[in-house]
Amino acid sequence: MLLKIVSIKEKAVPISSSIRNSFIDFSKMNASIVAIQTDVIRDGKPVIGYGFNSNGRYAPSGLLRERFIPRLLEAAPEDITNNEGTNLDPHKIFNVLMTNEKPGGHGERTVAIGTLDMAVWDAVAKIEGVPLYKLLADQYGDGTIDEKVFVYAAGGYYMPNKGLIELQDEMKGYLEAGYTKVKMKVGGDSIAEDVRRIEAVLKVVGSGDNLLVDANGRFNLKEAIAFGEAVKDYKLYWYEEAGDPLDYELQAKLSEVYPHAMATGENLFSLQDATNLIRHGGMNPKTDFLQFDCALSYGLTEYMRILEMLKENGWSSRNCIPHGGHQMSLNIAAGLGLAGNESYPGVFQPFGGFADNYKVENGHVGLPDIPGVGFEAKENLYTLLKTLN
Ligand SMILES: [Mg+2]
Repeated sequence: MLLKIVSIKEKAVPISSSIRNSFIDFSKMNASIVAIQTDVIRDGKPVIGYGFNSNGRYAPSGLLRERFIPRLLEAAPEDITNNEGTNLDPHKIFNVLMTNEKPGGHGERTVAIGTLDMAVWDAVAKIEGVPLYKLLADQYGDGTIDEKVFVYAAGGYYMPNKGLIELQDEMKGYLEAGYTKVKMKVGGDSIAEDVRRIEAVLKVVGSGDNLLVDANGRFNLKEAIAFGEAVKDYKLYWYEEAGDPLDYELQAKLSEVYPHAMATGENLFSLQDATNLIRHGGMNPKTDFLQFDCALSYGLTEYMRILEMLKENGWSSRNCIPHGGHQMSLNIAAGLGLAGNESYPGVFQPFGGFADNYKVENGHVGLPDIPGVGFEAKENLYTLLKTLN
């Protein structure tokens, strides 16, 4: 008997927040959650894989309900399972989901498929009875697991009535919570004001090596260079997403003049877009970081293809620190040897953050030893996901 998918459910839920970066405010942001129930029984209960879309893109409910969920439910069991029919095959499922989809113009379908892909991998690891990071290390990596993953605290958002003191207090809170590096938003105010904000945060975190700045694609080339010039002496850990994420020439020209590490990629949602960045973005594999977020970009299945492409181009998985601050990317980081993962302490709840009993210590966090992605070890998230059943 081949394994079967019994049902797939989807719901849009708010992740609203009063924060703002240089480009958008998050007060109307939502996300899709999905549950894929299989007919496999573990511990007396049917295995259910859960997924959600990462922050920054809206719930793709229409695409999921009208196109991708029906496509997956209509697929023949042999087209979505491994050869023995004992587990789901994420790679075959990806091909099913992409049937009758034209290349290019990826749009929001990358988010819809990334959400389903997360639920598929959660189910696959649960059926195997192992944490996803272990399955990845054993089946796709070199068998070794990073017991602790580097995480940095992404915050420093613009908020109404938030001054330098409040910004400093926020950053002090991250250090007290166990983080060693923090990130703040820039580009939402004048360069002079952002420099004042950066200097205020540096007083808290000590050195530029502990501070990352994120312009969220706000700058044109002239502004990006001017900002880089204004902050280069701080030797920041990285300067993120200076210009439009698809403007590879801007990134390349900025890379010629900005002398320190840069990071980008969270808004590139496909292997081809990632390849174009590597080909044309002038980025440096010795210093720079790539932030592709599987949960926004066709899922882990596509992310593995991106890692393969990076390898062919002389990049390492250790150049990757994904966007999103969620448990899915944390599993990938631990199992496939990434450099780390983003973290948003207290923001984008209940999706942001990691297992409840795993505190950040010295800028690193561990993962629970339970089957799947680990959602069941994060109570506020699991409470929400369970409402799909
Ligand atoms: Mg960013």
